[in-house]
Amino acid sequence: MIDLDKLETAARAANQPSISNAEILELTAEVRRLRKDTVRRLELTKTISEALHDNIVAMQSAIIEWQHGRGTEAGLQWIVNTLMGPGQLPDFDAPYGKNAQLWFNEHQAHPFPRCFCGNPSHIATDSRGYCSEEHARQDATRTTASQ
Ligand SMILES: [Zn+2]
Repeated sequence: MIDLDKLETAARAANQPSISNAEILELTAEVRRLRKDTVRRLELTKTISEALHDNIVAMQSAIIEWQHGRGTEAGLQWIVNTLMGPGQLPDFDAPYGKNAQLWFNEHQAHPFPRCFCGNPSHIATDSRGYCSEEHARQDATRTTASQ
């Protein structure tokens, strides 16, 4: 690993370099590696951004189809086609595979804390999560009663 403080000190010392040729070669190799890694990360970011963009456009198209095109079923077909291509249709036999809200709660990128009943949540207050308004009210009642 290059000692960046040493390199910076050498650069500031102008005519009195205190860095060896081996260190310069190591530094240039590290800069090349970092540049290559940066390019790879930018390409990955571009790919992910384009996939997200296309998914948003497909959902927008689904709504347009529903409201101004061939109706609800045709609108849903946009979403089915978008998910089927990469093999992302939900497994209806998986946990929460028959409940859209619980499915979303369980599989979103940053799930809330689980509800006291064990279900994944979509309502969060402080550090607690709730799967329904009813369970949020029940917990609030219990919390108030225990104080
Ligand atoms: Zn619950």
